[in-house]
Amino acid sequence: VQIEIINTGTELLLGCILNTHQQWLCRKLSDLGYLIARQVTVPDTGPAIQEAVREALERADLILVTGGLGPTSDDRTRDFIATLLGRKLVHNQTVMDDINGFFARRHRATPAHTEVQALVPEGALVLRNRCGTAPGLAITIDAGKFKPGESWLIMLPGPPNELHPMFDEQVAPLLKSHLPLREPFLSLTLNTTGLGESVVENKIASPLKTLVDAGLEIGYCARPSEVDVRLSARGAHAKQLISQAEQIVRGLVGEYIFGASNQELPSVIIGLLARKHKTLAVAESCTGGNLAHRLTNVPGASAVFLGGWITYQNAAKEKFLGVQAKTLAEHGAVSEPTAREMALGARTRMCADYALSITGIAGPGGGSGAKPVGTVFIGLATPDRVDVVQRFNPLDRETFKYVTTQQALELLRRELLG
Ligand code: ATP
Ligand code: MG
Repeated sequence: VQIEIINTGTELLLGCILNTHQQWLCRKLSDLGYLIARQVTVPDTGPAIQEAVREALERADLILVTGGLGPTSDDRTRDFIATLLGRKLVHNQTVMDDINGFFARRHRATPAHTEVQALVPEGALVLRNRCGTAPGLAITIDAGKFKPGESWLIMLPGPPNELHPMFDEQVAPLLKSHLPLREPFLSLTLNTTGLGESVVENKIASPLKTLVDAGLEIGYCARPSEVDVRLSARGAHAKQLISQAEQIVRGLVGEYIFGASNQELPSVIIGLLARKHKTLAVAESCTGGNLAHRLTNVPGASAVFLGGWITYQNAAKEKFLGVQAKTLAEHGAVSEPTAREMALGARTRMCADYALSITGIAGPGGGSGAKPVGTVFIGLATPDRVDVVQRFNPLDRETFKYVTTQQALELLRRELLG
């Protein structure tokens, strides 16, 4: 199945917003076993959209077009494509009822110009929008009109919170039934932390060689403090290949694998704490709340995450966590003893089972010969002891925060798994 993606939006080409649809759709489609042949981004203008769609229709079996289905004057994707295909736009009462319902539930009157979103090209399948107003539209284009075989053209709304559920709930099933893969496809992603990409590859590549010869594909995706290993295979033996490969990978780097299928470390931690009925507190300095932020991004965090402190200056470390003035004077704020007292103070004062503490030098200033920029101490207080590890993360401030919180979470994950 030849697939192309067209993202519309002048704002994407001005660099005002990041084209996350491109990544999100490619990821979703490739996890389903579909490969994307081409992706283009075009401005909101008629000629640009029509030219891109016409060209894609000459090649692709499926074209996904995103954006420009809304009610404003720059939202004209629907019109431009209907014109190109020579289809009339017809008022669709089901869509209009959905739109009226959307505003009624919010106790707002339906705005006047909204009815343009109830216009549907003749013969199009409506993909109802449960998170917004503009429906998605799926159109089949007869064989011979642009290319010898039949094609599908699917228009999806721009806002990610509308596009994501619409794809998962309506487009993915439509692909399965109308554009099925030639052979079965399976993929599994194992998420690791604590090893670099080439180290992971060195450990697993040759043991997987026989399976690769039999059709297994391995992909590596390296991100700050994380390497994802993607195992995929097609055909009748796909399931067997993947499960054998998984066993080998887990045998070799199992302790570094914190999740599968793109789970995030904070949600793994919240899950582990919940299962064990344990609670957590945090004391952060250089990460400025990033650890608490990432933990509280997880739904249900309140069951196990009690709270924490951002103690940026020495006085705050003393006042709120009980770090000794003597400790700070003798060892400095970025030191093993300070991290230890921060973790202990947080655990005792919050009456938590566990506490994580972080103190370090994010830079660019503030480093020294003994403690260069990037030096960080991470403390973990448990019911019976305090561990402190030292790490070196010489990165920009934002990446530093992310990588450091990842290391703190990984320390706790290993403790919780014993
Ligand atoms: P609306 O009814 O909100 O106008 P729409 O279908 O007309 O929806 P657009 O106007 O193209 O969509 O985009 C609406 C918003 O959705 C954009 O301002 C942007 O925030 C987001 N968006 C659109 N396209 C993308 C994209 N490719 N990647 C990420 N976000 C996008
Ligand atoms: Mg719009």
